[in-house]
Amino acid sequence: MLFDGYTVSGPATVHVRGDRIVRVDRTEAPPTDGDTSVIDLGPDTTLMPGLIDSHVHLAFDAGPHPVASLIAMDDEDLLTHMRAAAQSALQAGITTVRDLGDRNYLSLQLVREQADRPESGPEILAAGPPLTTPGGHCHFFGGEVEGTEALREAVRERHARGCAVVKVMASGGTMTPDSVPPHASQYSREDLRTVVDEAHRLGLPVAAHAHGAQAIEDALEAGVDSLEHVTFLSPTGVDPVPGIIDAIAASDTFASLSLGLSPKALVNPPKELALHRDKLQATNRELHQRGARVVLGSDAGIAPFKPHDVLPYAVIDLTGLGISPLDALKSVTSLAAQLCRMEGRKGHITAGADADLLAVRGNPAEDPKALLDVEAVFRAGVRVRGQ
Ligand SMILES: [Zn+2]
Repeated sequence: MLFDGYTVSGPATVHVRGDRIVRVDRTEAPPTDGDTSVIDLGPDTTLMPGLIDSHVHLAFDAGPHPVASLIAMDDEDLLTHMRAAAQSALQAGITTVRDLGDRNYLSLQLVREQADRPESGPEILAAGPPLTTPGGHCHFFGGEVEGTEALREAVRERHARGCAVVKVMASGGTMTPDSVPPHASQYSREDLRTVVDEAHRLGLPVAAHAHGAQAIEDALEAGVDSLEHVTFLSPTGVDPVPGIIDAIAASDTFASLSLGLSPKALVNPPKELALHRDKLQATNRELHQRGARVVLGSDAGIAPFKPHDVLPYAVIDLTGLGISPLDALKSVTSLAAQLCRMEGRKGHITAGADADLLAVRGNPAEDPKALLDVEAVFRAGVRVRGQ
């Protein structure tokens, strides 16, 4: 079977030359001449585009103390760890990731290494160190900046270095206890607008980390391309604002939901998550039902239950909210490719697209658990998993 990023169909033959898909036939493989090799994936397999994780941190080690561990590592050790993290994502069929926060632009080093060997990991769209207020959320990445001119300059620096996206911490977060709480805003609406204007002028999308309602609304009004987390955390719990949810749905801004928990590491489920689980789920469901463009950003790396291959569990979680498996698959393929500004190149099996492919046993458009049963992974036309 074929899921091409949009629809599911029957037997198909995908022709690959080098790192590209050159043709898609909705038929069984025709007889071939001697120059062509044929991989028969069998009748019970679904071939689909490699998955896109809209929010990961290769620099976090998915251990119990990711921040302490990051601070303790020098750049060389961190790079070694990041290469392994990238490889583990790729082995799960995740062929594109947006790295929304690293130290010293180390993700760009991996991007350079992949120029010759794309099969060494998923394609990485790197943000570099996220923009954050002095002492603010994830300041240890080194992206502290405030003031209009400095914000503009920070965006220009990321563009000049080759980043594919700008990440800004609109609100506080849970990983930086000595900064403002997650529900509180870090930047004003005007600051966020400055970041968006400069990034868009340079052709870069903006991803805004936003937990609190005010930060979500300000980032949305500033015109960011994606709202990361969108949890509506308040001082007392989770308090979604229907008007803001409607405004998100009416906009072009993507809602990047931080779903996905690895059952292998759920020894101690996070307290806040257990406490607010129902309300967070209801908020996520509401975003989808009211028509927001929902993609999945696992936030891989931030905890033991967030290993770098956790994304398939996020897809399963999404269907648990009542979203159809087909819509959930689109959110990690064709829809995510739109957010990444890589439509037609990623998340779609079509002539001209990158040959980043995932084959799973079963039909994930009926049962997304099939994503856990990987038969083969191809990255840039190279088979990196399976026979
Ligand atoms: Zn994150």
